[in-house]
Amino acid sequence: MLAEELAFAVETVRSAVKICRSVQGQIEVGKWDKGDRTPVTVADLAVQAVVSRGLQEQFPHDALMGEEGSEELRSPEYADLAAQVMSHVRTVRADATDPLIVTDWVERGQHAIDPNRRYWVLDPVDGTKGFLRKEQYAIALALVERGKILLGVLACPNLPTVLGTAESEVWGQLYAARLGGGAERIDLGRDDVVVRRSPLRVSTETEPAKLNWVERVESSDKNHDVTSQVVTAVGITNEPFRIDSQAKYAAVARGDAALYLRHSLSKTYIEKVWDHAAGVIVTEEAGGRVTDVNGKPLDVTAGRQLENNTGIVATNGRIHDRVLAAVREVLSRK
Ligand code: AMP
Ligand code: MG
Repeated sequence: MLAEELAFAVETVRSAVKICRSVQGQIEVGKWDKGDRTPVTVADLAVQAVVSRGLQEQFPHDALMGEEGSEELRSPEYADLAAQVMSHVRTVRADATDPLIVTDWVERGQHAIDPNRRYWVLDPVDGTKGFLRKEQYAIALALVERGKILLGVLACPNLPTVLGTAESEVWGQLYAARLGGGAERIDLGRDDVVVRRSPLRVSTETEPAKLNWVERVESSDKNHDVTSQVVTAVGITNEPFRIDSQAKYAAVARGDAALYLRHSLSKTYIEKVWDHAAGVIVTEEAGGRVTDVNGKPLDVTAGRQLENNTGIVATNGRIHDRVLAAVREVLSRK
């Protein structure tokens, strides 16, 4: 079931990886922190264009919920941006011959979603800050039907084979899962060719002193305080691995971490579907469990945001209830 869709998702995400590497290679370190976000915008738009066009060809009845809009590309003052996007798209698609055509491909990701039809969810470059720092980012594509995530593919082009190490020869991995069909890790080699496919399993660790955990790099409010109180209540003593993007889900799915905890204290921030859909199915199909901080399953039926959820708890399954109990205890003190 869904073999064709999964093959499409793997191939299109692999094309996206090529684009991201090429754009990231052009980043001048230090320039981004002066506010120039152009590189990540180029990568974001080019990836969305490629995925959107590929879908239109292979699954014309499926809609796309993409993070990016095409407003900038349409404005004359951004003609240079549109030209850059088109030239990157052209490296993987010969039919990207006009910036306006490419702009239309991007725009499909903003069309209204019919909740009764299946649709794809895309975060073209998740973890934009990590991308600009030349650290961790992900490309995340998932297929959703009537509130169920049917499949997901996550690319982590810079993720080291062992978390916390800096490896010189890392070509990245894809993580792919189908509902009820398990999850696999697909290692990329030079030129992003697939060199190995292996089944993905979460860790079986339950002993607090041995548990590793991951969380966001960015702390917009005091969310790192909350997460550290929760892990302390669980008895975890290890420091977190802080990484950008859905690479955090990959870390749980492949067993490097037993917990990914995300909590925004800001009442106004609502999580976006594209920041989670692919990561959730990869983690669950690897044997893990994902809920919000109140133990509710993630509800993707509310449109582009997870309106009915607060924060994220992704675990190896075995420690899930303990973590939820710790969250309850910590939040009741607030
Ligand atoms: P991460 O790399 O895990 O920090 O996630 C990056 C994503 O976080 C971005 O794509 C945003 O959609 C999302 N984001 C932005 N602001 C917040 C916030 N205050 N709390 C939680 N997530 C946020
Ligand atoms: Mg994102």
